Amino acid sequence: MKKINLVAALLFLSSSLWAKTLKVVTTTADLADIVRQVGGSLVQVDALASPMQNPHFVDAKPSLIVKVMKADLFVETGMDLEIGWAPLLLTSSGNRKVQQGAEGFLDCSSAISPLEVPVKADRSMGDVHPMGNPHYMLDPENSGLVAKLIVEKMSTLFPENGDQFRKNLAAFEERLKASMKSWEKNLAPYQGKKFVSYHKVYPYFAKRFGLAASGEIEPKPGIPPTAVHTADLIEIMKKNQVGIILTEPWHESRTSESLARQTGAKVAVMCLFPGTVPEAKDYFSMMDYNVKKVAEALSGK
Ligand SMILES: [Zn+2]
Repeated sequence: MKKINLVAALLFLSSSLWAKTLKVVTTTADLADIVRQVGGSLVQVDALASPMQNPHFVDAKPSLIVKVMKADLFVETGMDLEIGWAPLLLTSSGNRKVQQGAEGFLDCSSAISPLEVPVKADRSMGDVHPMGNPHYMLDPENSGLVAKLIVEKMSTLFPENGDQFRKNLAAFEERLKASMKSWEKNLAPYQGKKFVSYHKVYPYFAKRFGLAASGEIEPKPGIPPTAVHTADLIEIMKKNQVGIILTEPWHESRTSESLARQTGAKVAVMCLFPGTVPEAKDYFSMMDYNVKKVAEALSGK
C-alpha cells in the first residue's frame, strides 16, 4: 500500500513538473496570437471569442466559463471592448487567480495611449466607450507594446522562463519593425485618402498610416444604419471623394454595397483577428491582408 502511494506521489510530482506550462486564456484571437508568439511552447493559449464574432457581442456560454476556470492568466483588450461578456465569464468561473485586480489578470490597454477618450461619456451618444476607442490592435506599434506587457506579466507568473519570453519578444519586435516598413511603404501612396467605415474601428490604423475618416455607416457606435443617416453619408462621401468603405464580416453588407454603388467607392472587408480569413494566420499576415485590401481598393484595381 505504502509503495503504491509512493509511486503515485512520484508520478504526480513528475507529471506536474512535466506539465508546467502556463495556461492562458485571452478574450480575442489577436491577443492569443501575440501570447503564442512570445510564449512559444511554454504556454497553452486559447481565445474565448471566435475570430468570426463581433468582439463586442460574445455569448458567455458554459464552455467558455470552463476555459476561464482552468486559466493561470486571463488577458483582455480592455477599454470596455469585452464589457458585455468578459466580467460575466470571470465571476462565473470562480477562479480567484484571474479576477480583475488579481495577479493572473491582464488588461492590455494599459500598455497603449488611447484615442477618442470622450470629455464626457453620455448614453445619448450611443454605445460609446468611455475609456476611448478599444480597437487599438490595428496599429502595429500597439501590438508591440502589448507583446511587451504580456511578456512582463508572464515573466512574473513564470519567472524561470522569463529569459525565453524576452528572447521571443526580441524576435517579435524585430519582425514587427521589418513588417512595419513594408506596410508603411505599401500605404504611402494613399496618404490623406478618405474612408468611411461601418463601425468606428479604424482610428488607430488611420493615424498610423495617414488615412482620414469621413464618417461611419452606424449613426452612433453600435446603432444600426438609418435611411436619413445613410443619405447624409452619401453626400459627404461624394463631396470628400471617399474611395473606400471599410467593414467587418459580422456586419450586414447591404448598406456598404449600396453606398459603394451610389458613390463609386470600393468595399473592403477587413480582418480584425487572425483566423477570420484563411490568409490571416497570425498578426503579421493579418496586417499584410488589411494593408493589401486597402491599397487595392484605393489604387482602383
Ligand atoms: Zn467598437
